[in-house]
Amino acid sequence: MAQLTDYRRKRDPKQTPEPFGSKKKGKAPIFVVQRHDARRLHYDFRLERDGALASWAVPKGVPLDPGEQHLAVHVEDHPLDYATFEGEIPKGNYGAGTVEIWDKGTYELLEEKKNGGLTVRLHGKRLDGTWALVPAHLNGDEKNWLIVRKRDDSSAAPRRSPHTYAPML
Ligand code: MN
Repeated sequence: MAQLTDYRRKRDPKQTPEPFGSKKKGKAPIFVVQRHDARRLHYDFRLERDGALASWAVPKGVPLDPGEQHLAVHVEDHPLDYATFEGEIPKGNYGAGTVEIWDKGTYELLEEKKNGGLTVRLHGKRLDGTWALVPAHLNGDEKNWLIVRKRDDSSAAPRRSPHTYAPML
């Protein structure tokens, strides 16, 4: 079981509507991307791992072009119930601002490296394909990972995702 100690330490359940539970339907592991309009707009990328949501804050959003890579700051695990959370985190609380689900779905774990790196195939509405999470330790900080859009398979011509950061209709 993942540790949610950091998550709970940063939040007061009396002050924020954010979830603290860990219920889930279905067997396939889930992912979610939440648009988080906080002090700085970013996208939170979360993968179900060991009964919690492993989480990265991605300032520029999940890269859509094969070969493209964006900074992904590894943050504290979140409870599984966070995958359905949308709403307003009130002023004065950690991460104050608006949270909206940008995409969600299931994923397959294609590879897990000894250094913690992961390759996943996402099955979402906007994100459908292969991404790698690489513990690149940019600027010497172990929190600074990269999220990389991979080519999905050698037989298919690489193509840009048809989805953009425009609002989902
Ligand atoms: Mn966030």
